[in-house]
Amino acid sequence: MNTCPKRMINGPCGGYRDTVCEDERLTCVWIMAYYTAIKRGTVDRMFTLKLDSGFKINNYYPIPRRPRGAVEKILGGRVFMVYEYTPKPYSSPLNIPSELRGIASIYDGVDFVDNPGGYPIPSSLPYASIAKNSYRDMHVSIQLTARNRDRSQIASEILAASLSGIDAIVATTGDLDDSGKDVWDLDAPRIIYLARLILDLGLDHLGRRVGLGGEGMAIACSVNINARPLEPEILKLRVKRRAGAEIVITQPVFEPEILGRFRRMTKDLLGEEMPMILGIIPIMSRKIASFFQNKVGIKIPEKISKILSSERIDKEELLKTNIEVIENIAREVAHNAFYISAFGDHKLGYEIGRTIRRALS
Ligand code: SF4
Repeated sequence: MNTCPKRMINGPCGGYRDTVCEDERLTCVWIMAYYTAIKRGTVDRMFTLKLDSGFKINNYYPIPRRPRGAVEKILGGRVFMVYEYTPKPYSSPLNIPSELRGIASIYDGVDFVDNPGGYPIPSSLPYASIAKNSYRDMHVSIQLTARNRDRSQIASEILAASLSGIDAIVATTGDLDDSGKDVWDLDAPRIIYLARLILDLGLDHLGRRVGLGGEGMAIACSVNINARPLEPEILKLRVKRRAGAEIVITQPVFEPEILGRFRRMTKDLLGEEMPMILGIIPIMSRKIASFFQNKVGIKIPEKISKILSSERIDKEELLKTNIEVIENIAREVAHNAFYISAFGDHKLGYEIGRTIRRALS
């Protein structure tokens, strides 16, 4: 798999579309290998957790932990909403308590992103740490991507997050950035495995004592429910679960049928669903629509596409239509946990949070 730009060893990242790599100039070698494995009847073997030789402890099986915090709430059927926060270069972490006041009144949690698209923004940890200190009852998580970090740096982040009282990390491989010079030491399954080694046993990948073990921070992962083909993405979820993931966060959902298909296939292939948080985003510009349509494979709802295709976009109409679409999705999907991205527009995030609560009440 040496032409995979992310040096994946546990199956494809979620960035492929058909046989095309996230870097559109390339073919996804993992999807090609998947089709070969189908012919040979070796698909199951292909999707088992693989660790590289840098893992001196490679026989640990993270056991399911007692459901608590977010996991307990999702499984218990209570409404659980997480707001995505992107630290901005010009905003100090010290502003977090006032910035999040409205959000904290309607959301159960906040997730702090990690350099989306590879663009350097301030590290999430100080923001998340201050958020947790200011709003003790709120679920606070950070995203941790493999891009441009080696395993020692990732181990440090996991330790710091756990010691800061952060409730969960969301482990992802990360997108390719525009420079084409990203470095990949781990992929999402190996971050998850490393995190469980550190949290459960207090050991790092080399078996060195780095903590006490028995730490409760939850481990979440992501899934692209719009992936085409979908089976490899679900089988990859099985690998992440084996590595120790406990919650899955989906890419944005616009069509309940797509979610229904994902759920059916997950039950068939994995035997059961994992505790799941459904992604929700408003499509407030042509740029966002184009990204999700062309890069993620999401079909933008017709009503929204129509407004975006007009010569002058009526912003008010667009907002109203997005809220309507989100309200309908929340009603139709019969689910209780949502992950909302409003691209830093806290007013919009608040409005969406209110809409979903209303739809579910
Ligand atoms: S789509 Fe992802 S897994 Fe496939 S070759 Fe590209 S980077 Fe690698």
